Amino acid sequence: MSAGLTRRGFIGAAAAFAAARGFGALPRIGGGAGRRWYKGNLHTHTFWSDGKAFPEEAIVWYKSRGYNFLGLSDHNLFQDDPDRWVGIIGDDEKDVMPEWAKNLPHRYCYNAKRRYFDDYIKAFPDAVTRVAADGRTEARLSTFAELAARFDAPGEFLLVPDVEATRSVEYADGRYHQLHMNYVNVPELLPSIAAPGFVRRQKDKPLAEFLAEHARETAALAKKHARRPLFILNHPIWTWYDVGPEVLVDTPEVRFFELCNGGSPFASADGLPADGLDTDRFWDVVNAFRARRGQPLVYGIGTDDTHNYRGEKADMCIPGNAWSLVRAESLDAASLIEAMDRGDFVTCEGLEVEDVAFDASAGRLEVAVGAGGAPRTVRFIVSKRDFSEQPVGKVTVRPAKHKDVMRYQREISIYDDKIGFVAKTVEIPAGESARVGYTLSADDLYVRARVEEKGPTVSTAHLHPKGLRCAWTQPYFAN
Ligand SMILES: [Zn+2]
Ligand SMILES: [Zn+2]
Repeated sequence: MSAGLTRRGFIGAAAAFAAARGFGALPRIGGGAGRRWYKGNLHTHTFWSDGKAFPEEAIVWYKSRGYNFLGLSDHNLFQDDPDRWVGIIGDDEKDVMPEWAKNLPHRYCYNAKRRYFDDYIKAFPDAVTRVAADGRTEARLSTFAELAARFDAPGEFLLVPDVEATRSVEYADGRYHQLHMNYVNVPELLPSIAAPGFVRRQKDKPLAEFLAEHARETAALAKKHARRPLFILNHPIWTWYDVGPEVLVDTPEVRFFELCNGGSPFASADGLPADGLDTDRFWDVVNAFRARRGQPLVYGIGTDDTHNYRGEKADMCIPGNAWSLVRAESLDAASLIEAMDRGDFVTCEGLEVEDVAFDASAGRLEVAVGAGGAPRTVRFIVSKRDFSEQPVGKVTVRPAKHKDVMRYQREISIYDDKIGFVAKTVEIPAGESARVGYTLSADDLYVRARVEEKGPTVSTAHLHPKGLRCAWTQPYFAN
C-alpha cells in the first residue's frame, strides 16, 4: 500500500465523470411504481474454472432457494466455448492439468472427481459425455447460452453474464498483490485477457492504474455489446490487505466493491482485522475521501464467491452466505444494474430488511426492519466533513502462517474516528418491527445504515464479526 494518496489529477476527471453520470442528483431511494426486490449472487465458480460443481448444479442450488439472479463468474473466461470438456478422475486420483489447458489465460485444472461426475449424471441424465482417446470419460461443459435457455424464467430467475478478471502484480521489492474484478452483463472476455501471450501477473504496475485499465476496458466492451455493465472490485482485503482503500479513492471509475465475500480466510499475525480495518472501515475510508472530492460514492455488494458446494471446506466459499437485494423495475440485467447504479439495493449476510428510503432533499435515511426472533441493532454510520486526510498511524500486517512473509506483508494506513463514525444507534427488541431513521447533519458527508442481529452466519471465514448477521444499506448524501 502506498504511503500517501497518489492522485492522477482526478479531481477534474472526477467532476467530469460525475457530471456525465448525473451524479449529485441522486434520485429518491425507495418505493417507485412496479419496483420489487430481487435477490442475487454475482460471484460463483463452476468447473469452468475452479468451482467444484457443474454449472447446472450451481444454478439449481441458487434457483431452488429463491434467488432471482445469478452470475457464474469463472476466472478469466466467459463460458462461450461449446467444445470444453472436463475429464473424470478417480476420487483418489491426483488432479493434473491437461496439456491443452496450459496455454489458457486461466490456469486451473480441468478434471472432476468421479463422485462429482456421478452426482451430475444422476441429476442431469441428458449431460453430454464421451470417452477420450486415452479411455478417460469426459463431460462437456454447458455454455452460458445453453444454461440461460434452460434455466431463465421470466420474472423469476435470470442468469447474467459474469467474469472474474483475475490478475496480480509483483513488485521489485518482493511484494505481491492479487487484483480480482468481476464484470457483469458483458458476454465476452476482455481483449487484454483474451490476447495471445496473456500473462496473469504484471510487474511493478500501480494497482490503481491496473484497476482503472480493467474498468475502462469493461466499459468499452460493454459499449460494443450495447449493454449496461457492472464492474466490481472483488475482496480487496484478500489475501493480506492486497488492495488498500487509497486505490479506490484513486479510481472514481469504480463504483462497486465486495463488502462481503464468503471466501476471505483471513488471519493477520497482528490481530484480526488489523487495527479495525475490516471491510466496513475500508468502505468508509474510500467514501469519506470520495464525498469530499465530489466523486461518486462506492457501493458495497455481498457475494458467496462460491467454490465449494458439498462441504469440501466447512466454512469457506460456500453458497448462501451473502447476497444482494436489488429493487428494480423488472428482472433483466439492464434494470438490475440501473437500480444498483442508483444505489437502490441492500447487501445481506444472513439478514434482510423490509424497506430502505432515502430522501435526498431532506437528507433523511429510513430503514424498516421486520419482526424477528432476536433483537436487532441499527447503526447509522457517517463520516464527518472535517476528517483528516492524514493517517493517524501506520500498521504493518503480516500473515499469521506463511513462509513467504515479504510477499504478503503490507503497511496499512489508519485514519481518524471521524471516518465511519456511528452517529445513532437504535435497539429493536425481539418480536418487534420498526421503521427508524437518521437525518444528515450539516457536518456529515453521507450516511449509511447497518443492521445487526446476533446469530451464526453460513460462512465464518471472512472479515465480518463472528456470530453476527448483517444487512447494509448503501451510503447516501444530501442534494
Ligand atoms: Zn477472487
Ligand atoms: Zn472468485
